[in-house]
Amino acid sequence: MGKGFADLLGYLRSVNDLTAAAEVLEWDQETYMPSGAAEARARQLATLRREAHLRFTDGRIGMLLRTAATEVEGLDPLSFEASLVRVAMRDHEKALRLSPDLVAAIAESTGRARNAWRTARKEDDFDSFVPYLERVLELTIQKAEALGGGDCLYDALLDEFEPGMTTNVVHRVFSELRAELVPLVQVIAERPEPDDSFLCQPFDGRAQWDFGMEVLREVGYDFDRGRQDVSAHPFSTSFSITDVRITTRIDEDHLPSGLFSTLHEAGHALYEQGIDAGFEGTLLADGTSLGMHESQSRLWENQVGRSRAFWKNWYAKLQRTFPDQLQDVEREAFYRAINKVSPSLIRVEADEVTYNLHVMLRFELERALVDGGLRVRDLPAAWNAGMEEYLGLQPESNADGVLQDIHWSLGAIGYFPTYTLGTLMSAQLYECALEALSNLEEQIVAGEFQELLMWLRAHVHRHGRTMSASDILRNATGSFITASPWLRYVRQKYSEIYGPLR
Ligand code: ZN
Repeated sequence: MGKGFADLLGYLRSVNDLTAAAEVLEWDQETYMPSGAAEARARQLATLRREAHLRFTDGRIGMLLRTAATEVEGLDPLSFEASLVRVAMRDHEKALRLSPDLVAAIAESTGRARNAWRTARKEDDFDSFVPYLERVLELTIQKAEALGGGDCLYDALLDEFEPGMTTNVVHRVFSELRAELVPLVQVIAERPEPDDSFLCQPFDGRAQWDFGMEVLREVGYDFDRGRQDVSAHPFSTSFSITDVRITTRIDEDHLPSGLFSTLHEAGHALYEQGIDAGFEGTLLADGTSLGMHESQSRLWENQVGRSRAFWKNWYAKLQRTFPDQLQDVEREAFYRAINKVSPSLIRVEADEVTYNLHVMLRFELERALVDGGLRVRDLPAAWNAGMEEYLGLQPESNADGVLQDIHWSLGAIGYFPTYTLGTLMSAQLYECALEALSNLEEQIVAGEFQELLMWLRAHVHRHGRTMSASDILRNATGSFITASPWLRYVRQKYSEIYGPLR
């Protein structure tokens, strides 16, 4: 490669280093930082983020990109060099479309809205949150107008989280899903529920932690290139391909919380640890979209972690870890309990079947907010009507309703759909993995995950951002995003638990 590309690479790495340093500070903020440091840390983070943004929008990078672009002409578009120039150009052009004033206004208003949201939720006072959310929405719409592209404003917002995805496609796929899912949940809700009361009793936190660590090691999480800690809200973060960290939250009175959050975050981390090592320190060393990221976390949490095959191997160990609580609980009873389906008010506590209804409701509402069809002050009524329609429930308070999620206060509008897009992609990918690895279930029963991980590495992980989510999906499965495989998976799995579902 020529000097132009080498200069560009060096320059981009320096931006990446600043971003990674900010991410280390953010990780520390959520895990070990003493509370007294909050203000100083906010200042340090603002400095690093501003510096990274300035470098990335500097006039010099435009020149470097143009020179490098001529050097990579004619190369395979999927090559490291051509991909880096393409992705950097796209990111750079998008960053330039947002004026520094708008970026600063968004940072300020979301900082305020986040605090207002906390208070409003605690006091169940939606009215006090209205002016803050209105301001965030106004600026989000300005952002969408500045970014442009697509057929509608929501397309520009969606593209921030799921590059290449459009509102029309989400609408079509979600409609296909909803048409089957709403009646399916109604049928399940009428059937006798599995008993899951034994999951809610004291489970020693240390023992839960140790069990989770063993699961992490066995699924292939690399502790030489990562670590697990505890935080209030579990997350995964990557400072380099050689340092991908996760956190978990352990609830001493509810066994599944810690266990499945560990597996979920492990799925995210396996993706990041599996990116081609040659992409280190560049924009390519990241998941290609939030939806594809979520497909990996959900695959390990649900398709693997909540499967009968998985517990055929792990349940005896879990019983030995918690003999007082589980020695009289049969494996099948445990399996049914961790897969209990029950329409509920709170998204983050929802089971894998009803979860997507929560997401679809948020998609409909935020789309209406952005295109002007719904006013912020009318949100609670629209929320409650949607909950009734989708889940047959009415929240008794806004705190358990429209105020439950932090996302909108942060300006993360266009984010929610990626949860369900990821769920659908996880089923598409897993169906193909089952076909490609003929004895995958037997391997999981034997506690072996290596072949599955290698399959995901080859088809998803290693590509980083060189390929779009839809290209990865098409190459791996031969298909565009669709709800059918997930609906097949759910019907089959839950027919065995609840009796035939149509
Ligand atoms: Zn996730």
